[in-house]
Amino acid sequence: MNPLAEEYSDKPCLIEKSGVVSGINKAFIELSGFSSDELLDKPFVYIWNELLRINAGPDFTGHQKEAWLFTRELKAKCIIIQKHKGVTVGETGYIFIYKPFSRLDDEFPFLDNLYSKGTSGVAIYSIPDFILIKANQTYLNFLDESQRSRANSIGRSAYSIIGGFKGSTFEKTALEIIKTGEIKELKDEPFHGYSRGTTYWDSTIVPVFEAGCIKYLIQVSREVTEAVNNRKLLAEQNKLINEQKKQLETILENMSDCICIFDKDGKYTLFNKAAREMYFSSYEYMNKMEDGHYHAENYDSEGKRIPFWNTPSYRVMRGEKFTSMRMEVRYADKIQHLEVSGTPFFDNDGSFKMGILCSRDITSLVQKESLILRQKEELLNAEIQTREALEASLKLKDEFIYLISHEMRTPSAIVSSALQAIELMYKKEITPNVKKHLNTIKQNTNRQLRLINNLLAITRISSGNIKLNRSAFDIVFLTKAIVKSVEVYGKQKEIEISFRSKLSKKVIFLDEEKYERILLNLLANAVKYTPVGKKIYVSLYTKRAMNKNMICVSVIDEGIGIPKDKKDLIFERFGQVDSSLSRQAEGTGLGLTLVKMLVEAMEGEICLDSELGKGSTFTVMLPIVKPVADIDNAHSCHQGGQLYSNDDRIVRTASIEFSDIYFD
Ligand code: ADP
Repeated sequence: MNPLAEEYSDKPCLIEKSGVVSGINKAFIELSGFSSDELLDKPFVYIWNELLRINAGPDFTGHQKEAWLFTRELKAKCIIIQKHKGVTVGETGYIFIYKPFSRLDDEFPFLDNLYSKGTSGVAIYSIPDFILIKANQTYLNFLDESQRSRANSIGRSAYSIIGGFKGSTFEKTALEIIKTGEIKELKDEPFHGYSRGTTYWDSTIVPVFEAGCIKYLIQVSREVTEAVNNRKLLAEQNKLINEQKKQLETILENMSDCICIFDKDGKYTLFNKAAREMYFSSYEYMNKMEDGHYHAENYDSEGKRIPFWNTPSYRVMRGEKFTSMRMEVRYADKIQHLEVSGTPFFDNDGSFKMGILCSRDITSLVQKESLILRQKEELLNAEIQTREALEASLKLKDEFIYLISHEMRTPSAIVSSALQAIELMYKKEITPNVKKHLNTIKQNTNRQLRLINNLLAITRISSGNIKLNRSAFDIVFLTKAIVKSVEVYGKQKEIEISFRSKLSKKVIFLDEEKYERILLNLLANAVKYTPVGKKIYVSLYTKRAMNKNMICVSVIDEGIGIPKDKKDLIFERFGQVDSSLSRQAEGTGLGLTLVKMLVEAMEGEICLDSELGKGSTFTVMLPIVKPVADIDNAHSCHQGGQLYSNDDRIVRTASIEFSDIYFD
């Protein structure tokens, strides 16, 4: 045992020699809580600074000084250190005297309470060196991660354990307290020193005096970062909401539509400028919904009175939403037309909270609309009158044409009959020269008759005076007969006309005469517009179209064809592909018009398929109508391949239809 230690065996004592701890006594082990193994022969500076964390250096000029020593459990003990020369050369001895009444626990019994509650961080710093003497874990948890253990923070200066302490408000406040001795409270104080960024604190810092000097600062802090941030966020949101509210108010205020908002009691809470201008000029006062009813009457777009309980505001209050409802407001001195939209708003529990009405003055629009409507009506009436006049004049024209045609038909028919009589009765007396002239007369009379017949038929059909004389006949037989009867005209141009059909017999119920006329017309055109030496085919077949069984007859030629853009035109009155060419062929442009009319009168259809320079196919489709009577016996005269009794008529009609073709 070191003599110095022996001498002061009752007081804690530590001996240093040649930079190491060379001796300690039992009292020191009791004071510090360290074992002799942990202290002896260890570097003196390390023991002094790191283990004992004595806040005063080992070299001091006076004989003794006061300091803090930290035990193995990191309990701060206030001690007075006395420095002595050692017993042997090179030895220095330090005696530690426990300062009486300096036990922190005794001094601040209330702190224990605060420590244990854990909601606030409590720390005691020594003054003037800001050594952290004592702190609860809550306080330590405020520090940066590396400083949160007691071993890393107790006994260390605030400057070393709190990164941003120097220059911070906390340092400044502490220094001020030291100067003034006053307690300070910090509220929502920002601190930027921690690595986790800016934090906010509510702190109370209390100075503790000893012998007239401040010896400690007790800091009680609570982190309020989240609350402050929330408050800030809230403030920002509020700001934003306020800005948006302002914007909305500005928009509302400057809208050309009138906006009124009313609460659940029907009390108006907002009128925008347009609404103020509209209502306040018409109403004396306008505080509640019902105020309007004393000043005006409301009508719907059909002119029906709207009872007060069904006016827009009441409807909204009942929870109805509607848009662009038109209504009329009748004041004593004026009528106003409005277009109103209403929207209700509800509470979370679904009860009506407020309503918004958006109305627009559409008086001038309504006036314009009714003006346009009136003008339209006038126009329509004028149009109807014009059409009626036109129809009347057309009717008159048709009547005129009909009359003239009729008048012209008689002489032509007489001439035609006379010619036939001459041919029959004076056949032998007719010289070739006379025959030539007679032929010219016959052809031109037939041409005239054809024109007259077509005109008569067209005017009759267009005035609705068409009669269908349906009878049962074998269409195969008739078609064949017609083709046969016109072969002679084909021969004039060395054109072969042939009939093709898979059907051997097909008795149908049709207007035979009209069918003849249709087919002869198409055949005459085919011969007319087919060059010398080419062929014409007539094909007869049945087909299902438009949900009906149809009988179809196609006249197929190898003629000049019809351009696509003229396909519709040729079915119109006087419609010709090329009038000069047609004139060569002496056409009138009425034939196909009549054909189409006849086909349609029989509820059929005509279609054209043509290629310019290659030929045309005209197809007539007629619905097969079953006769009521026994049709097997129909036209028994058709049987046996004989021409039937109407054969003469076909020859006569053919000669008229083919009158455009020069016939020798
Ligand atoms: P047109 O008396 O002029 O022949 P249509 O009404 O019978 O009168 O025919 C109208 C026009 O349709 C004709 O002028 C002709 O240009 C054209 N056309 C009719 N049939 C044929 C055909 N088979 N080939 C070529 N063109 C035709």
